[in-house]
Parts: sequence; structure tokens; C-alpha cells
Amino acid sequence: MVDLKKTNYIKIQDGCSQKCGYCVVREFRGPSISEPYADIYANVKSCIEDHGMKLLQLEGVNSIEYNDPEVGDLIGLCQRLLKDFPNTYFMVGQVNPFDEDKFKRLMDLIGSEERLLKTCLVPIQSASDTALTRMHRPHTQAKLRELLNYAREKGVEFTIEIIPGFPGETEEEFMDTYNFLDEISPVAFWTHAFSARPGTEAATLPDQVSEDVIVERMEKYKDLQKKISDRFKETLDGKEIMVIVEPEHGARTIHNIPVSGDFSADEHISKYTVHYKEGRLERA
Ligand code: SF4
Repeated sequence: MVDLKKTNYIKIQDGCSQKCGYCVVREFRGPSISEPYADIYANVKSCIEDHGMKLLQLEGVNSIEYNDPEVGDLIGLCQRLLKDFPNTYFMVGQVNPFDEDKFKRLMDLIGSEERLLKTCLVPIQSASDTALTRMHRPHTQAKLRELLNYAREKGVEFTIEIIPGFPGETEEEFMDTYNFLDEISPVAFWTHAFSARPGTEAATLPDQVSEDVIVERMEKYKDLQKKISDRFKETLDGKEIMVIVEPEHGARTIHNIPVSGDFSADEHISKYTVHYKEGRLERA
């Protein structure tokens, strides 16, 4: 039976060469390994020709590490896919803010290409410099601000991921991240409360944050999430934006925000003017 869903995920990379102190990926999946372009090409071709898919999301454990002798880095891969599949939309699911040059070149490309969706997930995990050092994440708050503002200047909106309650997280570090999120105001942000994984450095760090404190911080983030999400939706009021229509999921913006109203499923990805009303988006 033909799958009516018109969006699919394409695996482009696995493993990771970073050493974030809380993560088990490297231990279980090993260092970064990229799918050969020939395999990605065959997979994309099959999704389009056999299943009629119009939008493909490129996914990896740490996609920014993608590298292949035929097409080069992640930017080269996107350029090649756009050229080889001229009627298909692509989306880069997740971009770590590790490599400034690659991050900016990718945003340049996404910002300038109609068929690359102008949204992505940026896992930052914290915006406190001291907490980031303990996590062994190679970025600072100043660099994050620069990169995220750069993305926005190019028209790319982002969702963020953070880890509340990393060992030793002080009230000051928590507020540093909280205030940064409020200032940078992403589309939305996801919280994954810290949970010690056996065998990781983070599990052995002193000053593990108590469950009560983590719950309290998660509650504060919940209020901020609503405020930020409403704020973003309001910025879309009266704008013409790209909307994805799927039989299973209804209509949603490329940022995954539901839009009410009548839509033609035939169009799948089209621009519509939307209005913001009482916390919701509706078709004009
Ligand atoms: S970048 Fe992601 S996958 Fe890689 S070590 Fe850090 S948390 Fe793990």
C-alpha cells in the first residue's frame, strides 16, 4: 500500500566525534561516520519515485560532522541533493553550533535556497559558559548569540534543546541560560532534564543537582516555553509562510506549529498567509 505521508527522514550520518561529558553515543556508536552519497541518492530517489514524497528531512546523530569524498561536507551534500532532485524540498533536522565556518555557510545556503526549509534544531544544552565547560561543549554564550543571530539574519528560525540540572548547575548558571533563551527567543525550546548515564564523566561529577531543584527549574522553563512560543507565533501574524499539509498530521508551519483552516492536501508544501489569534495560528 502506498504510504500517503509525504515527508520522510533520510539518514545521512551516525556516531559522533565530540566528547560531551554526559553522552554515551561515542561509546555505543563510535566516532562519526557518514553515509556514502550513492546510498543517500538511492534512498532519496526511492522515497520520491516509489512513495511520492515531496519533503525529505536529513538526519544524523551529529549532522554537522557529515563528510563524504564525493560531495564534501553537509553544505556540499545539500547543494548536490538540490541539484540532483530539482522538485524536492529538503530540511536539515539538527545542527550543532560547533564549527563556526560550517554553521554560517549552512545558514547562508538555507537562507538562499527556496527548497531548503528555513528552520532547524540547534542543541545548545546550556548557555552558561561555566556549565558548558563542565559539559565539554566547545562553544560559549557569546558564540551562540553570534551564530543564532546570524541564522536569523539569513531568515532561518531555530528550535533549541537544553539540559536543565547538569551536575553543579548553580542558580546563577540556570538563570544565565534562562535569560539567554528569553533574549534569543527561539521558535521553541525543549528541555531534557539531566539524568546520569552510567560510565559517563557527568555521572561521577560532584554536586549532582537534587530532583527537587531540577523539577523547580523545569517548572520555570515551562512558563518561559509558553511565553516564547506565543511570542513567536505572534511574529507570524499576517505573514505569508511555508505550510506543510499532510493527511495524517493536518497543516503545520515548517516550524511544526499547527495551523487551522481549509488546506488542499494536494499542495503539500505551499505558502499561505496566517493570522495569530488567542495563541493559535489560522489560515487567513
Ligand atoms: S554532540 Fe551530541 S552526540 Fe555528540 S557527544 Fe555531544 S551530545 Fe553526544
